[in-house]
Amino acid sequence: MTNRNVLISGASIAGPALAFWLRRYGFNPTVVERAPALREGGFAVDFRGPVHLEVLRRMGILDEVRAKQTDAGEMIVVDRDGRRLAGLPAYFISGEVEILRGDLSRIIYDRTKDEVEYVFGDSISSLTETPDGVEVTFERGAPRTFDLVIGADGLHSAVRRLTFGAESRFLRHLGYYVCGFSMPDHPGLDNHNRLYNEPGRGASLGGVEAGTLLVFASDPLEYDRRDPQQQMKIVERTYAGMGWETSKIIDAMWAAPDFYFDSISQVHIDRLSRGRIALLGDAGYGATCGGLGTGLAIVCAHVLAGELHAADGDHRVAFRRYEEIIREYATGCQKTSENAGPFLSPRTAFGIRRRNLMYKALSSPRLSSFFNKLTTKAASGLRLPDYPR
Ligand SMILES: Cc1cc2nc3c(=O)[nH]c(=O)nc-3n(C[C@H](O)[C@H](O)[C@H](O)COP(=O)(O)OP(=O)(O)OC[C@H]3O[C@@H](n4cnc5c(N)ncnc54)[C@H](O)[C@@H]3O)c2cc1C
Repeated sequence: MTNRNVLISGASIAGPALAFWLRRYGFNPTVVERAPALREGGFAVDFRGPVHLEVLRRMGILDEVRAKQTDAGEMIVVDRDGRRLAGLPAYFISGEVEILRGDLSRIIYDRTKDEVEYVFGDSISSLTETPDGVEVTFERGAPRTFDLVIGADGLHSAVRRLTFGAESRFLRHLGYYVCGFSMPDHPGLDNHNRLYNEPGRGASLGGVEAGTLLVFASDPLEYDRRDPQQQMKIVERTYAGMGWETSKIIDAMWAAPDFYFDSISQVHIDRLSRGRIALLGDAGYGATCGGLGTGLAIVCAHVLAGELHAADGDHRVAFRRYEEIIREYATGCQKTSENAGPFLSPRTAFGIRRRNLMYKALSSPRLSSFFNKLTTKAASGLRLPDYPR
């Protein structure tokens, strides 16, 4: 086999999932992650439809994921006094199995950490491809040479920037921002998510695990992505004066250990690889919120590793096949994210009323099974090749 030494940038979901499969196929992956340790936190992510579940099954982690699932109930839309206005069935929001992003990342990391080299607290600073490999320099560590490099470093991928050019060429802002963090000690919660809206602003409080999700409409904002305090100020300003439990949520935000903030944006790029370097997960076809990004990352990691194995490490064959297999699937999943912002945070009072009426219709048993099929359609739109387990 050729090209055994593979550098993966990013240790969230896509990176460890790829390392998992590569190791099983006899490759020698190294994962570099900019954060000083595995990143906990993040919102609940869900898996839906046979393709997602089959990949979790093939990885042998489906039972473990189920054991950690959130068991979230309905999404209940409330008025400013917390009274129910409408409800959306659990499946629509949480799929077949829902788990906190951090728990999922931990499961895959634990399955790989003894066999895979993880380097935390570092980042790739340059990539130079030669006929035999890729020379890599790092912000902290000594330079090294790898056979292949995979960017699994998210929406703001460094591998994509170094290989394909500035982020602004590939990121399409969808008019919304999303913010999530845990809020453990909130009293009176059951297992239902509650969502309160005022025009252009949505605040949701999860049940049991009590994750919060704030989604607000905004043109692109200027801010430092590495400065959470600055981002919290933006959120605080945006949510000032909003009713319901919002002021408590904002107070809790300042103490949250796992604050996440980003624009709801899609990545659009013509090609997922150049030479010995390829993109995986959010780095190549991310959509932040509502784009089934976690399921997509898990499925595509399996395909990329499977194709490298099938091609005996020949990246020219494997990268081309990987892109042929997943491109349309990824685009279909991305498309679903276009509704996430307007759905979770309609811009006008009329839009909120209309959305609530739709929620009511969706909870009727006949329509709900139709909409369940619709949400599962994108996630299931791939014929999964049968790679060796
Ligand atoms: C802490 C966290 C919280 C999240 N919360 C939400 C949320 O609330 N809502 C939502 O829609 N999506 C959220 N996401 C994104 C979601 O996890 C992804 O859409 C999806 O799981 C696909 O995962 P991915 O592995 O492709 O990308 P990501 O999960 O984005 O992971 C990318 C990884 O690469 C690392 N990284 C970034 N730059 C570099 C670099 N230069 N060098 C090395 N490593 C780098 C990041 O620290 C991260 O660990 C969150 C991601 C993280 C990391």
